[in-house]
Amino acid sequence: MGIADNISYINEKIKSVCELCGRDSSDIILVGVSKTHPVEKLIEAKNAGLYVFGESKVQEFIKKYEEVKDVRWHFIGHLQKNKVKYIIDKVELIHSLDDYELALEVNKRAEKINKIMDVLIQVNIGKEETKYGVYEEELFDFCKRISGLKNIRIKGLMCIPPNEDIDKTRYYFKRMKFLYEEVKKLKYDNFDIQYLSMGMTDDFDIAIEEGANIIRVGTGIFGERYYKKEDINNE
Ligand SMILES: *Cc1c(COP(=O)(O)O)cnc(C)c1O
Repeated sequence: MGIADNISYINEKIKSVCELCGRDSSDIILVGVSKTHPVEKLIEAKNAGLYVFGESKVQEFIKKYEEVKDVRWHFIGHLQKNKVKYIIDKVELIHSLDDYELALEVNKRAEKINKIMDVLIQVNIGKEETKYGVYEEELFDFCKRISGLKNIRIKGLMCIPPNEDIDKTRYYFKRMKFLYEEVKKLKYDNFDIQYLSMGMTDDFDIAIEEGANIIRVGTGIFGERYYKKEDINNE
């Protein structure tokens, strides 16, 4: 199967899952995670109708950004503070706000170019040492701390659950949905909660059932990557 077939297969699956759980499939944003794949594949995907791409390494992203035009870019990887300046004017959404110092830097760089940068807070829902993100116990304090930052707009939450069996994964997704609804209730000026980013190739159907409205699919669209699963989201 080629990339175009993969995309239509994923879109069909999104539709059928949505039908089964009574959701509107037009509410689901498919992010094609193109990390490690060459520009030609991204262009193939773009020609097949994919318009949001997710990248996780700054240097690799910049190169692709210059070569693939007229698409939208989401940054989904762990972001180092000293690299914020390279991406701030190029991405529409950062999925991986995971620390207060990073929030300060994103805010500062956004202010410099007169932008309000949309971000998601990454939650380390499985409390894994190998993953980034805010623990759920810290989430509401974290929200409060970043609530004064005028050049970032908090659009929702993101998670990468532990790689376990599907029942555990579903439990983590449910937990995220609960946190998402709680964060929605916060009345901070720079909060406009609309997105719950969760679900990848192997579990995006479960994520949709549990309330995701952004899913991030890599392998299912572009095929196998050139590095291991453990590297997900880690620099
Ligand atoms: C790589 C990556 C994905 C895509 O994973 P697949 O299993 O290939 O679909 C999704 N989200 C993040 C944060 C990633 O780093």
